[in-house]
This record gives sequence, C-alpha cells and structure tokens, in this order.
Amino acid sequence: MSGWLAIAGLGPGAAHLITPEVTETLAQATDLIGYAPYVARVPAREGLIRHGSDNREEIDRASLALKLASEGKRVVVVSSGDPGVFAMAAAVFEAVESGDASWRNLDIRVLPGISAMFAAAARIGAPLGHDFCAINLSDNLKPWDLVERRLRLAAQADFVLALYNPLSSARPWQLGRALELLREELPETVPVIFASAVSDPREAIETVTLRDAVASRADMRTLVLIGSSRTRLIARASGHPFVYTPRSVGAKS
Ligand code: SAH
Repeated sequence: MSGWLAIAGLGPGAAHLITPEVTETLAQATDLIGYAPYVARVPAREGLIRHGSDNREEIDRASLALKLASEGKRVVVVSSGDPGVFAMAAAVFEAVESGDASWRNLDIRVLPGISAMFAAAARIGAPLGHDFCAINLSDNLKPWDLVERRLRLAAQADFVLALYNPLSSARPWQLGRALELLREELPETVPVIFASAVSDPREAIETVTLRDAVASRADMRTLVLIGSSRTRLIARASGHPFVYTPRSVGAKS
C-alpha cells in the first residue's frame, strides 16, 4: 500500500469550520502529527496513531511525517487555520527540499483551511474588502528590524494589516512596539480589531481606535486587524459596529 502525506488546516477552532475534504482525509489517516493542542482537536479513534509535539519542533515534525509516508503510512499533519499561513506546509516543503531525495516523489497534498484573518474578518463585516497584507509579528524566524520595516511600508502603502502571533510570554513587547510605530504612520482614528479565540466559546472581539489600542488586550490566540485610512465603521445599537473597507479607491467612474 502506498503512503501519502496531507498537510491539513483545521480552521480557527470550531468543528463546523473544518472543511469536508479535511474531515474525509482524517478518516483515512493512520498517523496524525502536529502541535499537541491541534492534534487534540481531532477525535481519537482506533487505528489512528497520534504524535503530538511541542510548538518549536516544526522541522522534526515535518521529517517524521515524510519518513512515515515513505514507509507506506497515511499521514496527516495538522495546523490551525490554513496550513500555508505561518504554519506547517512551508516546514514540510523545507524538509522535502533538504531531506532524502526520494521524499520529492511522495504523494503530498496541502488541504486548505479557514485562516484566522478570514474567520475574524467575517465576524465583524468586511475589513479585508480592499488590498491587505498579513504579517507575523513573531521574530523567532526573522529579525525584528525586518518586521518593523514591513509594518512601516505596509502602513505607508495603506494596506489593511492582519497581525498574526501578536505576542506571547516569550515575546511580551513586540505588539506594543508595533502599535507605537503604526501610530507614527497612520491616522490615530483607524479602527483596530482585537479578535481573540474566534469561533471558540471564549471568543472575544473588540474594535477600538489606533489611539486607544493597548497591546495587553491581546494574547497568543488573538488576531489583530489594523484598518487602512479608508476602513469604515457602521455604528449599531448593540455597540458592536460593522467594520468594512470599501472595494474601490479613486476608481474610474
Ligand atoms: N495557520 C494559522 C496561523 C498560525 S499562527 C491560520 O491560518 O490561522 C498562530 C496565530 O494565529 C495566533 O497567534 C493568532 O494570531 C492566530 N489565530 C489562530 N487561531 C485563532 C483564533 N481562533 N482566533 C484568533 N486568532 C487566531
């Protein structure tokens, strides 16, 4: 029996946001690999071996997945959200490129998922309705200078920004510094959305202005959206406004 490897996105958290393609593939798997909290989101069943690991062991995890697939196993590597967005798919291809030559010819598939930025945006309206970019605030895999440069240039270009990995106990100051820098580049009235644990029972979403945005509002499961100068708020009686970014800017009439 020939093995295969699927790198699957589990979406933001809720079971109903996992795609049918991912569910069907998980049902055929012999081995499940990933960061332990994501592996825990997949129900246990007979015939499925679960390999949970620490968050930092991405290349080891990818190599194990490739090795098992080359031995004939049906392997699923799971990520939260979409596996191609700051997640395991790139780690697997990095291992393919530098690893055993035979791994290149394996049956490897990437199964998309709903990324945190799409789940968060859908909760409040359409903040990503015009051009936007996604930036990972973690400086584990890149220098902080580069993060600052990208934030500054993206703000100058008036993109809406989706900030992933805004802070953790090991990276307590990065989001505060990012907000300080963005206040130098953008009007202080642009909306900032703190979307935490989207689609989980603990979901909390708050919209403030850039002037009032405080980094301590975020944690490891928060996606921070920074509006562009054109992002609009529609006030509602509930106190939770709709937020959207018009599709056109200076368009031909
Ligand atoms: N591949 C994932 C991102 C992994 S990086 C995706 O496509 O969504 C981990 C970061 O994603 C977190 O620090 C947080 O910024 C964001 N994130 C993941 N799940 C989230 C959720 N349910 N609500 C808000 N942000 C989330």
